[in-house]
Amino acid sequence: MPHIDNDVKLDFKDVLLRPKRSTLKSRSEVDLTRSFSFRNSKQTYTGVPIIAANMDTVGTFEMARVLCKFSLFTAVHKHYSLDQWQEFASQNPDCLEVNYICLDVANGYSEHFVEFVKDVRKRFPQHTIMAGNVVTGEMVEELILSGADIIKVGIGPGSVCTTRKKTGVGYPQLSAVMECADAAHGLKGHIISDGGCSCPGDVAKAFGAGADFVMLGGMLAGHSESGGELIERDGKKYKLFYGMSSEMAMKKYSGGVAEYRASEGKTVEVPFKGDVEHTIRDILGGIRSTCTYVGAAKLKELSRRTTFIRVTQQVNPIFSDVS
Ligand code: 5GP
Repeated sequence: MPHIDNDVKLDFKDVLLRPKRSTLKSRSEVDLTRSFSFRNSKQTYTGVPIIAANMDTVGTFEMARVLCKFSLFTAVHKHYSLDQWQEFASQNPDCLEVNYICLDVANGYSEHFVEFVKDVRKRFPQHTIMAGNVVTGEMVEELILSGADIIKVGIGPGSVCTTRKKTGVGYPQLSAVMECADAAHGLKGHIISDGGCSCPGDVAKAFGAGADFVMLGGMLAGHSESGGELIERDGKKYKLFYGMSSEMAMKKYSGGVAEYRASEGKTVEVPFKGDVEHTIRDILGGIRSTCTYVGAAKLKELSRRTTFIRVTQQVNPIFSDVS
């Protein structure tokens, strides 16, 4: 008989962080840099652990150039040519991190994928391997024990993802992150909360829930540095943003949607937001402020100082922002 798990699973929108007494005087005292030592590659990392998603509209070279100034990471999308890579590398040697491999599939649960991770680990013993996506602890453990260092967590929360609609499969992101972080940390592995952040507060909640890294797509879309066509209509500017398994992306890169599969992503128009630098400052400022509210002097302390409270409404919807 089908089984129903009656435990309540929550999303970012279902909780708020409870403020705590703190000795911090100003948000400028907060350190957002983290250092990690990876379980299998034995490599180390130091930076602000926010990653631009490996989507062709977000993980661009232009994005990488700006994000690296803030010590953020960009998972560059896979559709650049070797020539384009060579040009970027020669012009931006300081932005390059080439000892990371990102193994990204929509469904990280297949046996075949686990074998693939093992094989890549064998061939690249010293590279840091990111693998996903999954949403449950047992699969996080299996991928780490198969050689992955950082597990991407998230099935269905993405802003241009239609997986939940098309397949009915998914897991509320906040609970997925809490459960997967616990499983990964038990083995000295790490996780990325991938998808579902719609504002700086969500990024703070993901870190509070135990994410080591947070990956962003939609929040970084629509900027000068983002890919996607710029559209002007009635004096307003928009940029096209689409899922990597949307019909738009599949037409662009694989000649269309294969007959046996459905697209699991959509295409949207994002109001043009100007330079991404402004958005990055906004996100980092928000997280620094979160840390001061809960008394965390470092991002590392945020999850230890996190108590989530369940809410039925998180913001007052009466006015819309015109700024
Ligand atoms: P966002 O930050 O926009 O909410 O989520 C970004 C994440 O959505 C990406 O990192 C990736 O994991 C996921 N994603 C990107 N394109 C697609 C797609 O076409 N379908 C699905 N199911 N997920 C996608």
